[in-house]
Amino acid sequence: MSEKSKEIVNKIADVIIENKKHLTQLDSAIGDGDHGINMARGFKKIKEKIDGNNYESDKNLMKDIAMTLISTVGGASGPLYGTAFLNVSKIVPDAEYDLDSAIEIGEAAVKGVQKRGKAVEGEKTMLDTLIPAVKSLKKSRDNGDDLETALKDCKETAHQGMKNTIPMQATKGRASYLGERSIGHQDPGATSSYLIIKTIVEELY
Ligand code: ADP
Ligand code: MG
Repeated sequence: MSEKSKEIVNKIADVIIENKKHLTQLDSAIGDGDHGINMARGFKKIKEKIDGNNYESDKNLMKDIAMTLISTVGGASGPLYGTAFLNVSKIVPDAEYDLDSAIEIGEAAVKGVQKRGKAVEGEKTMLDTLIPAVKSLKKSRDNGDDLETALKDCKETAHQGMKNTIPMQATKGRASYLGERSIGHQDPGATSSYLIIKTIVEELY
């Protein structure tokens, strides 16, 4: 497996840990204020786990991440992100990644979140970052863009997706209990998903 994959995962963990307070503040407004705490706990554990482990393949790395997220993050987001990584572990290639594999990875992640959480786009969740991000990659493929352009556009689209959750009313998860009062706040899960995508893209280009 590539050392680079491990490096990227380490960096994602650092970024999530750095944003613990920010994610928790977002979740305090429309949830129970634990998203940053949950995610930072999980990614700290991931850092510890991958540090001394030489994975045979990216599949095994992704599987370990999935299991760690499911067992340590808790809340709604632990099983959701865990299932996303588990789905990704099943299809991730060991060869050099290209735009097709990036799309496959994105689709597997989205399917994992949907299998578990039954949400669609527009419900003010992490899917409002993830689904547009995957659509952007597909659009880039249709345009014949190279991987760098595709990933940079994907990052911008993910950012927009995150921002688009502000005027949405939550209809899934804890924020939905607030009804109309969930409007006007950025979704914490959409924010952590953006941070993950942003970090992957910035580590590569
Ligand atoms: P909890 O809501 O159990 O406290 P977290 O605070 O860790 O869990 O995570 C909240 C985030 O999980 C939300 O901001 C939202 O993005 C995401 N989420 C909640 N329910 C769903 C769902 N059914 N599908 C997709 N994402 C969801
Ligand atoms: Mg919460």
